[in-house]
Amino acid sequence: MRDPVKYTVIVPVYNEEEVIAHTYARLRETMDTLGEPYELLFVNDGSRDKTASILEGICAEDPRVRLLDFSRNFGHQIAITAGMDHARGDAVVIIDADLQDPPKVILEMIDKWKQGYEVVYGKRLKRKGETLFKKVTAMLFYRFLRSMTSVDIPVDTGDFRLMDRKVVDVMRGLKEKNRFVRGLVSWVGFRQTAVEYVREERFAGETKYPLRKMIKFALDAITSFSFKPLRLATYFGFALSSVSFLYLLVVLYERLFTTTQPGWASIVAINLLFNGIMLIMLGIVGEYVGRIYEESKNRPLYILRREIGPARTEEEKAE
Ligand code: UDP
Ligand code: MG
Repeated sequence: MRDPVKYTVIVPVYNEEEVIAHTYARLRETMDTLGEPYELLFVNDGSRDKTASILEGICAEDPRVRLLDFSRNFGHQIAITAGMDHARGDAVVIIDADLQDPPKVILEMIDKWKQGYEVVYGKRLKRKGETLFKKVTAMLFYRFLRSMTSVDIPVDTGDFRLMDRKVVDVMRGLKEKNRFVRGLVSWVGFRQTAVEYVREERFAGETKYPLRKMIKFALDAITSFSFKPLRLATYFGFALSSVSFLYLLVVLYERLFTTTQPGWASIVAINLLFNGIMLIMLGIVGEYVGRIYEESKNRPLYILRREIGPARTEEEKAE
């Protein structure tokens, strides 16, 4: 039997060679103050720089550090998921690698956990050092998401959070492919509370979330928790059809009782408008159909190249 691990800190990393050693040092410093057994679980999401070899070096020196090495980049949300699958702690914390989430907030989260809360999420009071574009889109996104879904997903909350073992075990049973982890954590329920914090500037390097990944992330979030977009498309379709029908009456009247003008401008305008709307609606439907397709393929969520550090025992896997 191995020593029990009380806390697991999951850190997803993608091309973070500039920060990772520093992040490790800061996390160790913070977790050491607790005087209870913990592990740091780094998930290397297919980095193309020296991240993996730096982490390997850290693992060789510190037996409390583990590394899951992905075969390629599967994305931030999948990296977190892999971390939850492999975590051994009674309480599991997810934190970004770039030190935007201050490690000392973990101690406050643990305090709340000891008071009996099963999920403690970090709520950002402020975001430092991020572009206006990122701040505005994030602000709008969380509010739009709230209006679109019936799940109570707290606004301005990232994946920086603590979860009790019970919650992690439930999360491990949710196998959907296009994952919006913070939404799923809200969805599972349990006793949840927030700790507020100021999101710091990135310690070094650049954001690993380009616009392309942000859009995928937002679409996953909305489609995972709501089919309102489909319903809106239907309503919109009905509304347009009604207006079109009225206009048809006008056209018929003109044709029968007046001398009609050759109205090519209106024909072109209506065509362009309606074709555009049709394509948008088709796109919305496509987003859902594509996701159904992904689910039906039944591929694994991620592929590990290797696992370094004390792996989970067979009993732990079976639990
Ligand atoms: N990340 C990842 N895979 C990706 C993109 C990002 O594991 O494909 C990690 C990244 O290393 C960081 C966290 O996810 O630890 C958040 O990314 P980032 O800080 O770049 O996002 P931002 O804070 O700019 O939204
Ligand atoms: Mg960041």
